[in-house]
Amino acid sequence: MNDRPAADFPACDIAVVGSGAAGLAAAVSAARAGCTTRLIDPRAGPGGTAGFSGLTTLCGLFDEAGDWLNGGFSREFAEALAEGPPVRQGRVWLLPYQPERFRTRAAEFLAGAPGLTVHWGTPLGRVQVEDGHIVQLNDFPVRAVIDCSGTAEVARLAGIPCLATDEITQAPAVIFPLHGVRHDCSSPLANLRLLLPLARAGLPPLHLQPGREPDTVTAKFSGPPAQVEEVITVLRREVTGFAHCSSPAREFHCTPRAGRMILGRHLLSGSEVLTAQKFADGVVRGAWPVEQWNAAGQCRLRYLPAGAYYDIPARALQAAEPRNLFMAGKTISADVDAIASARVMGCCLATGAAAGQLAAAWVRSGADSPGTPIAR
Ligand SMILES: Cc1cc2nc3c(=O)[nH]c(=O)nc-3n(C[C@H](O)[C@H](O)[C@H](O)COP(=O)(O)OP(=O)(O)OC[C@H]3O[C@@H](n4cnc5c(N)ncnc54)[C@H](O)[C@@H]3O)c2cc1C
Repeated sequence: MNDRPAADFPACDIAVVGSGAAGLAAAVSAARAGCTTRLIDPRAGPGGTAGFSGLTTLCGLFDEAGDWLNGGFSREFAEALAEGPPVRQGRVWLLPYQPERFRTRAAEFLAGAPGLTVHWGTPLGRVQVEDGHIVQLNDFPVRAVIDCSGTAEVARLAGIPCLATDEITQAPAVIFPLHGVRHDCSSPLANLRLLLPLARAGLPPLHLQPGREPDTVTAKFSGPPAQVEEVITVLRREVTGFAHCSSPAREFHCTPRAGRMILGRHLLSGSEVLTAQKFADGVVRGAWPVEQWNAAGQCRLRYLPAGAYYDIPARALQAAEPRNLFMAGKTISADVDAIASARVMGCCLATGAAAGQLAAAWVRSGADSPGTPIAR
């Protein structure tokens, strides 16, 4: 691993843009497949939303029975990250984790990948397309690119068609830790106890998920950051189990859920997700419900049939044009309903790993790959 400025380096096989859950998995998988790989990100280190937003639960790793949905890198990384067993919340399973540990483990996996160079503090600046292929990125020649920027920055700069997720169904939220909480939030109904006191105070709802430490929860709040202190005051005053709660966070800010998706060789639809479609070129399994959040903080969950999972085909991870552009995480080729399921971090790790392998196969053969079988 190296972190010299990107312009100092010769050509590479694969460039990965963005080092969140998807980019981490894509870069390590492409490098392990034998490709010289370069990872760029404007931040000072890896992690993206998983490492820097304050989130503490990895979703989308398990099916309804609690069995791993995907093998390969996503399972390897989640097992290295885990400090305890997954937690059941209604029909789904969450893996509690610590964001600092996500960043550390991610850096270790990147450092251990052969032929991988990382460039921190390096945003994507230029994308050059010739004869229907991306040939250069930030002035270094590339043979294939994986867009893991969450907002399809490669496609945007190259003028490639994208779909935007709408903020009406993917509203941003303020994520913050709450300490000193004596409240069991392992059931989805547990959050209902907070609704009335907050509504009476004229505040939007708050959604809680279990944290790694005892008496600690992670809160997702759909109102403006300036209202967080007021929310904590209402909880302390009116909800049993919150009398002594406080947040160690010094500042609060909104994290966007919505991104941009690149049009691929297949557009994964919400109906394919909800009817648990399978594909001959399926490379990733997903089972997370279609999870929509409106600006009032209300969450709508649409579940797959009991025990079911859907496939994400290789064609949803490769752009329709140019063919040497692959995508993973929030940028896969999916409509607004499908991405409302596939955007969870467990799924981003799995699409990243699959995109890394697909891009490597493309570099080796110069042709579209049917996709590698899903390792479970
Ligand atoms: C409020 C909220 C709550 C959520 N709750 C959960 C949850 O509990 N569990 C769960 O599993 N998921 C949750 N999610 C979803 C999940 O966190 C994200 O969808 C997922 O982390 C996206 O991963 P990614 O790798 O695709 O993108 P990101 O994590 O967004 O990573 C993108 C990376 O690209 C980099 N980048 C951006 N622009 C450029 C550029 N121009 N050049 C180079 N690099 C660039 C960024 O710096 C970043 O490192 C939540 C999301 C939100 C917003």
